[in-house]
Amino acid sequence: MRGRLDGGWRLDDGDEARAAMRETVVVVGGGAAGLMAAGRAAEMGAPVLLLEKLDRVGRKLQISGKGRCNVTHSGGVPELIANFASGGRFLYSSVSAFDNQALVQFLADLGVATKVERGGRVFPASDDAGRVVQALLGYCRRNGVAVRCRAPVGGLLVEAGRIAGASLLSGERVPAGALVVTTGGLSYPGTGSTGDGYRLAEAVGHTVVPPVPSLVPLVVEEGWARDLQGLTLRNVRVRSQADGRVLGEEFGEMLFTHFGVSGPIILTLSREIARHLAAGGGPVRLRLDLKPALSPAQLDERLQRDFARSSRRRFRHALDELLPRSLAQVIVARSGIDAELPLHQVTRPARLGIGETIKDLGLTVTRTMPAALAIVTAGGVTTSEIDPRTMESKLIKGLYFAGEVVDYDARTGGYNLQAAFSTGRSAGEAAAARVRGADKG
Ligand SMILES: Cc1cc2nc3c(=O)[nH]c(=O)nc-3n(C[C@H](O)[C@H](O)[C@H](O)COP(=O)(O)OP(=O)(O)OC[C@H]3O[C@@H](n4cnc5c(N)ncnc54)[C@H](O)[C@@H]3O)c2cc1C
Repeated sequence: MRGRLDGGWRLDDGDEARAAMRETVVVVGGGAAGLMAAGRAAEMGAPVLLLEKLDRVGRKLQISGKGRCNVTHSGGVPELIANFASGGRFLYSSVSAFDNQALVQFLADLGVATKVERGGRVFPASDDAGRVVQALLGYCRRNGVAVRCRAPVGGLLVEAGRIAGASLLSGERVPAGALVVTTGGLSYPGTGSTGDGYRLAEAVGHTVVPPVPSLVPLVVEEGWARDLQGLTLRNVRVRSQADGRVLGEEFGEMLFTHFGVSGPIILTLSREIARHLAAGGGPVRLRLDLKPALSPAQLDERLQRDFARSSRRRFRHALDELLPRSLAQVIVARSGIDAELPLHQVTRPARLGIGETIKDLGLTVTRTMPAALAIVTAGGVTTSEIDPRTMESKLIKGLYFAGEVVDYDARTGGYNLQAAFSTGRSAGEAAAARVRGADKG
């Protein structure tokens, strides 16, 4: 029977095929969640057909972590959960059932050794995301998953409150006894995630929390920021503020780009900023503390020492030891002090003003970059309509959701892929149990 999966069964096939298709798990989307769901369902003995709309699976996985694939984070389950901006509680069951240690062991069993890097980020030891894709594809193939590429799904077939299959954009109808939607979010559409899952879910009655870009670079007004493009700042603190309140505050690494700012802490802050702007909120200010380890008084002492040591030096070089050269030039230019003034002539109020700028350098966010350039999409199929243990729809029997199509999102650090793998695993297991009769409801 499995041999026929590649071609897909049709509703007008004979009785034998109809009986077989009721035992088939169809997985829609061959990303992290879909490959895991398909492989696991097949490993549990179910016939599985994976439908992928592009010409190959795992395109986003392939580019994740700048091609190195930050597969998970090394913290414990509570820490993993705490790093989700939304959906954390919902994920508790699936992440506990298949946590980061289980994932690392799973990958090791597939021949992909991993290593833990700074900040607890876990990567393949080979630094090659392609190895992860190949391992997952091998897992699917070894367990008999039929993978069908260039097979975009356009609709779900539901009969009497139960999933019956999927219809392809070509018009072909593919029957299923259980179906897992793992179509991803809306970001990086070239990797295949174009929001199809939201439309598929809504068309069968599910509620979709409006998607917004999350983990997305920010466009800023100030020209000097663009002049700093390529500059990375480590160990800085950034606070985002709007309408008189603090939206967020992060410590770590950021980056200047040709349009504004990016890097880990900016991406993390971007989620609240995107929501604020999408809701029509007022202008957002970023306030950069370039020397968070120093109090204002300590910073002033440091400036006094530097100025006294080279008192004949020109003011233009005043901050060369304290800050990266290009950034030092920006602060010098913004100070209003004559760049040619010898340091011993810089007044105390002027020096204190420089300290204030270093501790509180402002940027104005005009907008986020588009959702297409976000690392993840927040929003998606609402978690209140999904069973967190099985990922099964509470509205339609035999329909499952896993991965980014579900309304969860986390900061950078491997959490998003862990969630895709954990939810994919839960969905694959439950879908297999359903078609094998262990969980007929
Ligand atoms: C540049 C970048 C880097 C990232 N790096 C990391 C990282 O290092 N660590 C981390 O944890 N997270 C990272 N993420 C986020 C992470 O990659 C995603 O959250 C994760 O891949 C989501 O997995 P998924 O299986 O839900 O969706 P996807 O991986 O997006 O897969 C969805 C699949 O469904 C297919 N599909 C869509 N619609 C249809 C349809 N109608 N019919 C059939 N198939 C369809 C798509 O073609 C695609 O193959 C990164 C994201 C980006 C964009």
